Amino acid sequence: MNKNNQILDSKGSNHSPEDIDDIGDDHIGTSAQTPLRDDAFELSDDEKIEKISHHFTEIMQTLGLDLEDESLKGTPYRVAKMYVREIFQGLDPNNRPDAKKFDNNYSYDDLVVVKNINVTSFCEHHFLPFLGKAHVAYKSSGRVIGLSKINRLVDYYSRRPQVQERLTLQIADELEASLNTTDVAVFIESKHLCVSTRGIKDRESSTVTTEYRGAFKKQKTQQRFIDYIRAETEM
Ligand SMILES: [Zn+2]
Repeated sequence: MNKNNQILDSKGSNHSPEDIDDIGDDHIGTSAQTPLRDDAFELSDDEKIEKISHHFTEIMQTLGLDLEDESLKGTPYRVAKMYVREIFQGLDPNNRPDAKKFDNNYSYDDLVVVKNINVTSFCEHHFLPFLGKAHVAYKSSGRVIGLSKINRLVDYYSRRPQVQERLTLQIADELEASLNTTDVAVFIESKHLCVSTRGIKDRESSTVTTEYRGAFKKQKTQQRFIDYIRAETEM
């Protein structure tokens, strides 16, 4: 840190430590694209795991922890492996599910709604999880998508350092492209651990983000979608 207590980011802008806290607490995202560098995939997964293990060791040592302890010894490697192969695996386009679509030859032309899709994502400002549910809908233009593919798409875009607003847009963009229709809707509600475990420490509040495109901009269609989300079917 330089002497004005300013932290210079990679683009050369100055952010004071207070600005950095505010950006995190307000969860300001900068773009619908995940900010990745051009060289993001030059290292192999194994090389990334090795590098992150090394740096996580430094973090733990800086905190004063004894890495000789049996219980702590493996933590840097476990964290690194978890980052690369599990919770941030959605950064790698190779892990993008193939949204195999096929022609809707039984001419279903009403809404398709997939409710209660688990969202396990990670706030990019604090690297803490946010957990919730996504409800997704589209109106078929003659193409349909395998239902489990929608769950996989949600999971893929969730498993990266994220901002909930961006996650919502990324899912909508992907559906729009795969289904060849702008008639898509995405509704996400989730609880952010960075809100419940630190800062304001509110365990009750949740965050809702929505994206309504095409037909879903119309009040009537939007309302039908919301009614379906609310409806409970005995199963
Ligand atoms: Zn956060």
